[in-house]
Amino acid sequence: MRERTAEGLEPVLAVNDLSRSFGALTALDGVALEVAPGQVLGLVGPNGSGKTTLINVVSGLYKPDRGAVVLGGRQVTGWAPHRLARMGLNRTFQIPRPFKDLTVLENLAVAHRHAGGGVRTAQELLATVGIAGMEHRRASELNASQQKRLDLARAVTTGPKVLLVDELGAGLGPGELDEMAVMLTELASTGMAMIVVEHLLGFLAKLTETVVVLNAGSPIFTGSLQAATQDPEVVKVFLGGA
Ligand code: ADP
Ligand code: MG
Repeated sequence: MRERTAEGLEPVLAVNDLSRSFGALTALDGVALEVAPGQVLGLVGPNGSGKTTLINVVSGLYKPDRGAVVLGGRQVTGWAPHRLARMGLNRTFQIPRPFKDLTVLENLAVAHRHAGGGVRTAQELLATVGIAGMEHRRASELNASQQKRLDLARAVTTGPKVLLVDELGAGLGPGELDEMAVMLTELASTGMAMIVVEHLLGFLAKLTETVVVLNAGSPIFTGSLQAATQDPEVVKVFLGGA
């Protein structure tokens, strides 16, 4: 029988024993986690602990050396990003790279070719992410915060059941962080599962209570954010600046 999550729902995404090395460096080492529909799972860890690599491997940008990615009960390990997008998994990038010479709307149209189901109109989406009225601007004219919002819209336009969010909060001011937290919470309330990589724990606390802490590619803690900040090993890893 399949395991059920704390919420009693079948996980929409399950990752087992996921591992990936780059030469002699083991960036991911036996990571297991799962997320249920509408659940937000925080992923934290020091710089270089493998957070982005996990997102890269789960989203199909890199192939794992070992382990499995199961989406909606289906083995999708090693599938290409566009195929995963169509199956209902998408991600945002720590550093968004829109097609700079294309307009906001054109950027969305490119992503939309890989849409699965449950897609909103571009106008609705741009309003949701707070860049309504910028449809015809070139992406190169957008500031860093607006590019993050476009990147979120790009991922959401494919109608993901699972959204992987990589450091959306970095570089944003307090007001914008609050807006982003509301935005992500609203998306989760529609049933979208999320893994949110975040350094800003105050921001993360607005989104979820549950976190996985990575260190050197391995999970060292799974539980509440509150408990994580009091866990001796977690504290050591962060203070040690690993
Ligand atoms: P985080 O997102 O937690 O800061 P990363 O997943 O980006 O960490 O990186 C984990 C480790 O893997 C780091 O040591 C990083 O230098 C290395 N790494 C990540 N991607 C590559 C790559 N494409 N080639 C070589 N090394 C990489
Ligand atoms: Mg990273």
